[in-house]
Amino acid sequence: MAARIIDGKALAADIREALVDRVKQLSVDGHRPGLAVILVGDDPASAVYVRNKGVACEQVGIQSSIDRMPADTSEDELLKRIGELNRDDNVHGILVQTPLPSHISSSRVLAAIAFEKDVDGLHATNAGLTLMGTPYFRSCTPYGVMKMLESIGTPIEGSQAVVLGRSNMVGKPMAMLLLAANATVTIAHSKTRALAAITRTADILIAAVGRRKLVTADMVKPGSVIIDVGTNRTAEGKLAGDVDFDNVRQVAGWISPVPGGVGPMTIAMLLTNTVEAAERRACQ
Ligand code: NAP
Repeated sequence: MAARIIDGKALAADIREALVDRVKQLSVDGHRPGLAVILVGDDPASAVYVRNKGVACEQVGIQSSIDRMPADTSEDELLKRIGELNRDDNVHGILVQTPLPSHISSSRVLAAIAFEKDVDGLHATNAGLTLMGTPYFRSCTPYGVMKMLESIGTPIEGSQAVVLGRSNMVGKPMAMLLLAANATVTIAHSKTRALAAITRTADILIAAVGRRKLVTADMVKPGSVIIDVGTNRTAEGKLAGDVDFDNVRQVAGWISPVPGGVGPMTIAMLLTNTVEAAERRACQ
């Protein structure tokens, strides 16, 4: 029997709907959530991501602003703008879209965002708190994956989980959230040997690499849960994940598609973090 589909698009819509009332309540109390997005340069893909985030904010009533800065913006100018947003009480979340032009240090920029406004969950303080099992803001993509796992009721505690990829944005925080949920976690990366032998042990397999069809049917444990974080382009320009979907689907128990899986959940969790930031401020 083919695996059941984990519908990230539908789950994200449910999450957004649940946020609408929280945003209304905050707005009535004079704390309408605000997200400030900074886009440096004219990378077309980044422009689309930023626009999509703005639309998603609008759908739930979050106030959003986009600072479009030219590609030759200096690091100092960008840091100055972040400082202003850090001090702006109407701004609860700040997001700097990556990639940044090569003359700007992403790590210095990330460090400049007040961690209480780091709704992407990527600041070293937020990464550290996630590592310690006491998260303040979780990185949006792994947070969305946890919601997807919860939605299908798969037991995480005691399961064998394998995470492919060890980036600060996805792989590492993903492993920490699974560990906090009492999975036994293995992290694999580009230097991992005998990858298939490892992935075949996984009750839960998260692919976050960026290589089309890296995960094939022979690498998957029958009945397991497969979450595909990867985003790649096919020769025809279509979006595709890291998993050989059609064939893996014949072996797995659950599988998330690309598109319509993790992508919409990442944005839903960005909105969730922004609303949480505004709720925390409202309580101060
Ligand atoms: P990244 O920073 O490029 O990290 C990729 C990771 O994959 C690295 O840790 C790398 O290992 C590992 N890797 C490379 N080849 C491998 C192989 N053959 N076997 C096992 N691991 C391998 O990418 P990222 O930011 O984590 O993103 C990963 C993918 O998810 C990308 O396709 C990205 O577009 C997508 N993504 C999607 C969303 C969404 O919302 N849908 C959000 C974020 C990212 P090394 O560390 O050894 O180099």
